[in-house]
Amino acid sequence: MIAQQWSKVSKELRQELGESSYKSWIEPLELVGVENGIARLSAPSRFVGDWVKRNYHDKIVARLRADHADLAQLEFSVGRATTVSTPSPTAEAPAVLESAPLEGRYTFDNFVVGKPNELAHAAAKRVAEAGPVTFNPLFLYGGVGLGKTHLMHAIAHELHQSRPDLQVLYLSAEQFMYRFVQALRDRQIMDFKNLFRSVDVLMVDDVQFIAGKDSTQEEFFHTFNALVDQNKQIIISADRAPGEIKDLEARITSRMQSGLVVDLHPTDYELRLGILHRKAAIFAETLGPVNVGDGVFEFLAHRITTNVRVLEGALQRLFAFSNLIGQEITLDMVQDCLSDILRSSERRVTVEEIQRKVSEHFNIRLSDMLGPKRARNIARPRQIAMYLAKELTSRSLPEIGRRFGGRDHTTILYGVRKVEEMRSSDSQLAEDVDLLRRLLQS
Ligand code: ADP
Ligand code: MG
Repeated sequence: MIAQQWSKVSKELRQELGESSYKSWIEPLELVGVENGIARLSAPSRFVGDWVKRNYHDKIVARLRADHADLAQLEFSVGRATTVSTPSPTAEAPAVLESAPLEGRYTFDNFVVGKPNELAHAAAKRVAEAGPVTFNPLFLYGGVGLGKTHLMHAIAHELHQSRPDLQVLYLSAEQFMYRFVQALRDRQIMDFKNLFRSVDVLMVDDVQFIAGKDSTQEEFFHTFNALVDQNKQIIISADRAPGEIKDLEARITSRMQSGLVVDLHPTDYELRLGILHRKAAIFAETLGPVNVGDGVFEFLAHRITTNVRVLEGALQRLFAFSNLIGQEITLDMVQDCLSDILRSSERRVTVEEIQRKVSEHFNIRLSDMLGPKRARNIARPRQIAMYLAKELTSRSLPEIGRRFGGRDHTTILYGVRKVEEMRSSDSQLAEDVDLLRRLLQS
């Protein structure tokens, strides 16, 4: 029935879109079901799903309406869902809990390791070995799009492979809350508790979501303790450190801090470049090879710095475009195709602004920052400002040198290196740098 409807629709689309677009985008899809005004389609990858949604959503909806008058929306799924069944589901309480579907591409193989994420990666790898639990929980935190969800899915994939006997449950804190509220409403709270206490590995993504939600926090705390008592591994992610999550109960915060807390730092240029190369290889698997002109990756890694998701979206768009018009990706194409992204990610931070903010933060005079004084309490902030100037502006070292009272580029390089080095050993300095970076970028 559904299959027939879909084959009719896809035939029509083949007519309309032409053979090559049809082959790339429509043929790989499958209609899974239609319910409550939503048609669910499965796609071989998120890439294809996203593309179809962006470009053919309305066309598909319009055609499916022939059979489903109330249809309003398409939803795409990728990869397989992991299912955790209750120990003994009874007829009245069929509490089967499906976790969020795992993204098939989020594997360790596809995760590019660099300085900013090497610790988080190593910790995730360790947990994925499923050896004796040495730290519990593993708490991963970092800004949007830096790979927290990717790492958690990678752990789940690896465990599915190597330890199919283990019950691994991944879900977002929002889903945790939703399940909990549903269980309360349906009077199935015992099932809920049994279920969560029966898993071997529990991963809760974006835990900051439950801050301020009192009864959910309470339940989460009990679940957490029960699993820790059984020596079951827990992995948590959040967008900031445990102590910085407002309205999170103190006892939960302290529990979170009792394991291993690792952060994912903002990406650096090398990491972004590595990620672009890796993603390009992945896109090429779906779309066939695409030629990428000289300097394209470097340009993107240089210009799109905030969020790996945006970087990936940009590359995806270029690949799709290049695939459609059958030409290589050139710097000109980048400018045309990505003008919106490039404009919005243009950071207008200037060296002068950095110097001003850093001076204020460390309570020193701007004239001292630019002047010759070498005392530590002046020299260190100066080096931090040099570092931030290198990171946040597109100025070259000699240009930055000129703006620091005519210093030589080697002095700037020394300052940048010094701060890079100290960030890993001096946590106060690392915090200052992160804070300043956020201030300057907001
Ligand atoms: P977060 O959960 O931290 O917001 P995600 O894990 O959703 O971020 O990552 C956003 C996107 O960026 C994903 O497509 C992910 O694959 C990609 N990404 C982030 N970091 C890396 C990395 N180091 N290597 C490869 N891909 C990455
Ligand atoms: Mg995430």
